[in-house]
Order: sequence, then structure tokens, then C-alpha cells
Amino acid sequence: MAKDRVYNFSAGPSMLPLSVLQKAADEMLSYGDSGMSVMEMSHRSKPYEAIIGEAEALLRELMEIPNNYKVLFLQGGASTQFAMVPMNLLRRSKKADYIITGQFAKKAAAECEKFGTVNRVASSADKTFSYIPKLSRADFDSDADFCHITYNNTIFGTRYTYVPDTGNVPLVADISSIILSEKIDVTKFGLLYAGAQKNMGPAGLTVVIVREDLLGEPLPGTPTMLTYTTHAENGSMYNTPPTYAIYICKLILEWLRDLGGIGEMEKINAKKAAILYDFLDRSKLFKTPVAKEDRSMMNVTFVTGDADKDAAFVQAAAAAGFVNLKGHRSVGGMRASIYNAMPIEGVEKLVAFMEEFERNNG
Ligand SMILES: *Cc1c(COP(=O)(O)O)cnc(C)c1O
Repeated sequence: MAKDRVYNFSAGPSMLPLSVLQKAADEMLSYGDSGMSVMEMSHRSKPYEAIIGEAEALLRELMEIPNNYKVLFLQGGASTQFAMVPMNLLRRSKKADYIITGQFAKKAAAECEKFGTVNRVASSADKTFSYIPKLSRADFDSDADFCHITYNNTIFGTRYTYVPDTGNVPLVADISSIILSEKIDVTKFGLLYAGAQKNMGPAGLTVVIVREDLLGEPLPGTPTMLTYTTHAENGSMYNTPPTYAIYICKLILEWLRDLGGIGEMEKINAKKAAILYDFLDRSKLFKTPVAKEDRSMMNVTFVTGDADKDAAFVQAAAAAGFVNLKGHRSVGGMRASIYNAMPIEGVEKLVAFMEEFERNNG
């Protein structure tokens, strides 16, 4: 850990690997022999074409993305995908199934409703989104144009441990806070999207992975920039892509490859999550409201049950160098986001701090 750096548990934008930041710093004034920063480079220049090309190739290699899927580097955040998905995928029945597992799922469904009929197949709102509904093929509308899930629920700290079987209906997943953290079988999905700022780079970049046969029939009136085909046919270069964010994403993908890939990363993430959940399960002060089988490995939510004590903990933790542990403003409590870049040591030290806080405040 470099001097002056804190353990940053922010849900996003979030911690980035130190070596990536150092490399970006080294290359800040002149990238390679270009004599300029990546920020100052034309997106149509040779060195930049190599950067975006390598970013895509690495993502394809690490996530094992088949050739019949397009990888798009877009802007607008995951929230823009809430609209782009229905605008491009409501092609026949104009109906879509949504599983409501939290704030972002709700927002995605509400956005789809502007363009078609939304069927809320299931919701975990009855228990404040502390679990993932278990569904089977019969629960879904076989006539729907797509089914949408939020794979990892960043605010509530739950994640799917199974891929819902929707039969021939394309499955769409918001993977903003789980991408690159564990293996995902891309072939089970029609479309995957993620804002980069959780686990793959800085804010400003959104990655979409879409099966080719789903492209080409947007709703009439869909703006050019919101049509997937526009970006698919132009190698994400229809207009200026978020060039610097894609460059940082490339550095992160190189870091992940050198670490051994997503399988290796998943093992480390499982270890980090286990350290924190094991403590929460034996603590008399802290507990997690999340159902055991649906616990997120990326966002660990917990409470003391006393709002004043929660606030005191967040404050004391920050003073000790563990920052951004406050839960989402809509739910309160605490949340430790332990994305790929959070070292095991950061989680171990946090648990040691929580043990000490418990001894003094139990
Ligand atoms: C953060 C987040 C979003 C919102 O992302 P933006 O890029 O800010 O639009 C959507 N879905 C999930 C699961 C998220 O974690």
C-alpha cells in the first residue's frame, strides 16, 4: 500500500489497482513514443486503435466471449442501458419480463415501461431485497422479447448464484458490479451490460456485450446514438469514444490477465468475502440482513441495528483509514464494497478494526 492511500470501500467509482494507477502515471505525459498523453490522442490514430483493439481482445479472452457477440464501448452509464435495451430489443411482442431485486432493477423496469409492456415476474421487495427469487422456466413469459435481471445488487448486497432459465427468451443482465469478479457464462445471455466504474475502470465508460442476432431492429424513432448497430458497425468509433477510460480499462484487463484471469480473481474474491461474512456471522454487534445463499461477494451490507452506533462506526472507521463504508442513502447501515482491486489485507484489517470496535462498543 502506498503512503497516504486509504482502504477505499466505495461502491463506485471505486478503488483501482495501485499498479494500474502507477502505470497510468508513468505514461501520463507521453504514451509509448507518441509524444503525447492518451488523453490528447486522436481516437483514429494508430496508437489509439491499438489501445481499443487490445482492450476488446483482452475482454474477449478473459470473459471467453464467443465470436457471435459484439463488444461495445459506450457512454451514458448503466442507466442509459435501462433505455437502450428496450429500444433495441422490443422487437416482436413488445413485452419484457423483469425480476425486481433492488433499486436498479426497479429503475430498469420503469424505463422499459416507456416503450412496451413490463411483466414484473418476481420481486424481493417483501423482504427489503435481502434475497434473490428462485425461478424456473414456467415463471417466464415465453412470448416476451427479453427477460432482464440485475446480476449483483450493489445497494442491497445480493447476487444470483444461478442463471434463470428463460428458454428461448434472450436473457439480459446488468452486470455493473459483478463483471470480471467471477466467471460468467456469456453464452447463457443475449446481452450483458456494465458501467465500468465499479470493477473495470473509471466512470464514463459502459461496456455492452450483445449477441449479433439481437441487433438491427430498434424501435422506430430510436436515436442513432442509442442504436446498438451504430456502434457495432463502427467498432465503437461512430463518434469519439471515452478514450482515456478505455485506456485505463485496458490496463486493468492486463492486470487481471497477469494475475491469472477471472478464475483466479474469483478465488481471491471468495476468500475476501468469506473473511468478512464469517466475522459477521459470529459477531454479536454486526450482522448482515442478506440471505446466506444470496450474499454478494462484491458488496457486503451490514448493520448494528442502532442508527447512532452505525454512524459512530462509519466515522471511527474513516478516521482509521477505512473509508466509504456508509450504506447507500436509501437503506442506511454499512456497506463494504470489496471489488477486484481491494486487497485481501484490506479486508483482514477492516475485520480486525470491527472486532476492536465491537470490544469497545458491544
Ligand atoms: C452503479 C449501478 C448502476 C448505475 O450505473 P451508472 O453507470 O451510474 O448509470 C446500475 N446498475 C447497477 C447494478 C449498478 O451497480
